[in-house]
Order: sequence, then C-alpha cells, then structure tokens
Amino acid sequence: MGLDAIIEFKPERPMDNGEVKVLSWRLCDAFGAESFWLDDKSKMAIEACRDGWWSVRQMWRYYGIDYERGPLSIILATCKFVCDYFDGKVVIEYGDDCSGVLGEVTEEFVSILWKHFVKYGHYSYLGVNEKNRCPVCDGPLWDSGYSGGGVLRGCTGCGYSSNRMLL
Ligand SMILES: [Zn+2]
Repeated sequence: MGLDAIIEFKPERPMDNGEVKVLSWRLCDAFGAESFWLDDKSKMAIEACRDGWWSVRQMWRYYGIDYERGPLSIILATCKFVCDYFDGKVVIEYGDDCSGVLGEVTEEFVSILWKHFVKYGHYSYLGVNEKNRCPVCDGPLWDSGYSGGGVLRGCTGCGYSSNRMLL
C-alpha cells in the first residue's frame, strides 16, 4: 500500500489524436517507456481523464511534505516537460491518489517542494537513523522496521544493504 502520484494537465487548446500520440511518444522518449502504464492496445502514456484534462499514466509513488517517498526529481521533470511542450500554455496539477486532492504546479509550488526534497530527501519515509552508520561509506542507514524484533538496514548513499535481519 502506498500513495501513487497523480499528474494531470489541461492544454490551453484541445489536442487532436495526432498530437496526443506525439506527446505520448515524447514522454516515453524522455523518461523511458517503462515509466508508464502503456496498455496493450493503445500504448499511450497519457489518457483523457476529465473535460479537457489529461492524465499522465506514470507509475511513480507520490512525494510530498510528510510523505517523502516517490521520485520527485522525475515527477517535477515530467511536469516541466509537459509545461515546456505546450510553451507554458497548459495548467498542470499534481497530487496523490488517496486524497484525490490535486494542487496546481506553479513555480512557487515547485520551489517549495524542491527545497524540501533537497533538504530532507527520502530520509523520513525510509526511517533513516543518523545513529546507524553504513559500514561501507559511513552514511546514515535506513531501517526497514521489520516486525518481530528484527530490522533490515541499507544505505541510499552507496547501495549497501545488510541483506539480513539484524536482531
Ligand atoms: Zn553507504
């Protein structure tokens, strides 16, 4: 269970089917086709979701203040890509699938979220404990919080993993 990211956008003018395909291809080219839920039939990275609005069919977890989980750098790059694709003539919204609340992706919104990401990264979500240091690079270790008294620890700084429960 977790919160999935939602990215929706509404161009200033409607897109025709050809433009929809081109934007879908461009998103896959930019971020990798494996980043999107491309259904077997249409292979489209975007789909119509409400009147004049489109949803990016990505598979990233949400990242927000108090839920520092998903790949925010990729999420914001996707929003920037869509914005610049339409020369800024588009409204973009971002949120999570649980609350269903979306906020407009403005420069101020991006700045606040980005600064939070730079300062806190994924530490809160991963349960990084400054007291537990990586035996390889001395960075702080995350703690999986396994139940039953054991934990699995790892390091986002170098990829180290204890690979076993530490009792
Ligand atoms: Zn390390």
